Amino acid sequence: MSDQYHKILNVRELADSAFILEIERKGMTFEPGQHVLLGKAGDIHHREYSIYSGINDEALEVLVKEVSDGEVSKVLRKLKPGDEVEVQGPFGFFTIEEDFKAEVNPFLFIASGTGISPFHSMVKSVPGLNYKLLHGIRYSDASFESDHYDKDRYISCTSRDDKGSFRGRVTDYIKQVDIDKNTHCFLCGNFEMIRDAMDLLEEKGIPQDHLHAEVYF
Ligand SMILES: Cc1cc2nc3c(=O)[nH]c(=O)nc-3n(C[C@H](O)[C@H](O)[C@H](O)COP(=O)(O)OP(=O)(O)OC[C@H]3O[C@@H](n4cnc5c(N)ncnc54)[C@H](O)[C@@H]3O)c2cc1C
Repeated sequence: MSDQYHKILNVRELADSAFILEIERKGMTFEPGQHVLLGKAGDIHHREYSIYSGINDEALEVLVKEVSDGEVSKVLRKLKPGDEVEVQGPFGFFTIEEDFKAEVNPFLFIASGTGISPFHSMVKSVPGLNYKLLHGIRYSDASFESDHYDKDRYISCTSRDDKGSFRGRVTDYIKQVDIDKNTHCFLCGNFEMIRDAMDLLEEKGIPQDHLHAEVYF
């Protein structure tokens, strides 16, 4: 557990008002899927951000979307290398249990927008993971760093253009595929997507103890 000031090392700009902060790690240990509380050093306002980087990466990374009427994301957006943030954590239980990792059963990761962040950390941290990643986005340019995933494991579901892997919402995609009942399903992002996708997965016979969710907003 760390609770201290960390320097920004670099900022990677992405499409759709999103960006990645590369932050000094200072030896912080975490489980992929956990989040930190983050705010500008000295600022009283902090928000939760999933850790984007892998457990063996040198820097601690978070993927942030600037929310137009948001308080903290706008402040984080203005940070430059050398500035400091306060990092608390890690926190949370949205993680792959040790005994799941050893299983051959498949994982289905379902994300909306920046909800892809914990899955990026899981994929980078756990070699040989048997996963499929559904990423719900409006336009294909918001697929962020999709080249970091196996081509045949990353499926972008784009609701407003035809340039993704699938035209439609993640829920439309789920409706038209068979899902092995042994699949561990992890869902992350906005509440409506998670609720609707969970309902569909339950209808498809996925047991409740195979459903794991992290709601962002
Ligand atoms: C466990 C957890 C992990 C999270 N991880 C991430 C992450 O990895 N990356 C990330 O960008 N955010 C993440 N969030 C959301 C984040 O904590 C903030 O809520 C978000 O950055 C907005 O904060 P703000 O202070 O700018 O806006 P606020 O002033 O808090 O909120 C302004 C409005 O924006 C809405 N809002 C919040 N997030 C979004 C969004 N992404 N798109 C559209 N509207 C939104 C809020 O519901 C609110 O109505 C996570 C939330 C939780 C609970």
